[in-house]
Amino acid sequence: MKIIETVSEIRKAVSEARKAGKKVGFVPTMGYFHNGHLSLIRRAKAENEFVVVSIFVNPIQFGVGEDYETYPRDLEQDSKLAEIAGANVIFHPSVQEMYPQGYKTYVEVEGITLRLCGASRPGHFRGVTTIVEKLFNIVKPDQAYFGQKDAQQVAVIQQMVRDLNMDIEIVPCAIVREADGLAMSSRNIYLNEGERKAALVLSQSLFQAEAMIRNGERDVKWLKEIITGTIKVEPKASVDYVEIVDALTLEVSEIIQGKILIALSVKFGKTRLIDNIRLEV
Ligand code: AMP
Repeated sequence: MKIIETVSEIRKAVSEARKAGKKVGFVPTMGYFHNGHLSLIRRAKAENEFVVVSIFVNPIQFGVGEDYETYPRDLEQDSKLAEIAGANVIFHPSVQEMYPQGYKTYVEVEGITLRLCGASRPGHFRGVTTIVEKLFNIVKPDQAYFGQKDAQQVAVIQQMVRDLNMDIEIVPCAIVREADGLAMSSRNIYLNEGERKAALVLSQSLFQAEAMIRNGERDVKWLKEIITGTIKVEPKASVDYVEIVDALTLEVSEIIQGKILIALSVKFGKTRLIDNIRLEV
């Protein structure tokens, strides 16, 4: 498996694969792989003959005071894991390669980027859509794989692909969790022992709400109160948001009906974690 750092070389590698009649799958990431990332790579490999994995910690999706500098990086370990999972090539460009001096173009999806994580992280999704659009233009995949862990990101990318008539199929993939329920995340490494234990309230509160809905509870306000209350029992947790929204439009749900997404963001010390569940009622 090759590690490629320039746009011209990755273009060449993909075009050779295409000439050989191979279907191209793409998994964009920021690296520091765990089983969530690897599940995407495995799925991409099962559905495509040629799999490109990008590893790029995208500076423009981080806000001032966020963790761009400290974001964990380990290219050596990542390349070993990606190869075993089925990647054919890793695209690992420099910041200079992606945003050379004089760079001026940004992609912005309106509306759904303002809610949930967009409200707490202004400019975040503009950074995400810009880098994903650039990577799509470079790799030109048939299918691109994204984790439901970042449910809003999936909705925003799907909106962008629809609006810009991009000929790429977006494949959402299920959240991979630790044995105790915590959603896997590269940022879990920031948690100290106490915070790691405390972070279990995220999945616990979501699963509890899911069980209540399955048992007939339909009151959105009450469900949000229960989730928030469960999280607040943990003194180390500081709630950023708890929302129940339509899974497709991300509009706030008045009633529990159809495809819904319960999404939350909670801080433990300096670490902001997100989690969600989707369910159909
Ligand atoms: P990141 O490196 O955090 O930008 O994530 C790269 C891709 O992996 C994104 O599409 C994420 O949604 C996905 N991902 C991250 N964590 C998980 C997880 N626990 N389960 C499934 N997919 C995940």
